[in-house]
Amino acid sequence: MPEKGAATLSKRMPLGAVAEKKSDANATKVASPVVVIIKKDVKHINLKVRPTGEVVLTAPRACTQRDIDYVLKKRSEWIDKKIAYFKTHNQVVEKEYVSGENFSYLGRNYRLKVIESLDEGVKLQRGYLQVFVRDKTHTEKKKRLLKAWYTAKAEIHFQKAIEKYQTIVKREIDRVCIREMKTRWGSCNPTKGYINLNLRLIEKPTECIEYVVLHELAHLIHADHSTKFYSYLDLIMPDWKDRKRKLEQIV
Ligand SMILES: [Zn+2]
Repeated sequence: MPEKGAATLSKRMPLGAVAEKKSDANATKVASPVVVIIKKDVKHINLKVRPTGEVVLTAPRACTQRDIDYVLKKRSEWIDKKIAYFKTHNQVVEKEYVSGENFSYLGRNYRLKVIESLDEGVKLQRGYLQVFVRDKTHTEKKKRLLKAWYTAKAEIHFQKAIEKYQTIVKREIDRVCIREMKTRWGSCNPTKGYINLNLRLIEKPTECIEYVVLHELAHLIHADHSTKFYSYLDLIMPDWKDRKRKLEQIV
């Protein structure tokens, strides 16, 4: 959830979350992908691909079909790439929280082991992520236990990364918030000194966590994604691009 005026780090994943006025939306089919064309009071044509593979084009009211077709044709390669990307991503199925299922933690995969126990909790032991739960079939309970475990781990590891890079960036942060975010790994509100980090970042390798933390901390100095911002990243973390690539890899 980007805060107003906040510089954000896109996860390159769903672009959704932007609500359009459905009032004068008319669905038009252009070749294979479904393109929804919305005309409203905007200055420029805006194109996006939803995680469902649907293409949404927002255009100024005065825009002609010819202009629209031109943009669609010009951006067709980008559209195809986006659609292909979401196709791979949507294969990420909902977890069932049963033994044998894979869970990532700090860039490694662990198999889940559900164990019946009066003492409930989660332990990473002997290469397994063990969930101790009274009722092994209670999915919600297992989900909650795991979330609590991940959150506790995230607090430790994110804090470590923050401390490491804060001494370099030398800027005070008021608050760090860890939460589940659908579209971003992190965000920063430079004016308020807030940093938000996606809980799911704890699934990624430490080097990726550090990259996101530095990226957000760097926004306390350079609020936007200007050349200065990237030069600053280069200076402090010369391999940030590799880390970013790793972060975006599908595991
Ligand atoms: Zn950013």
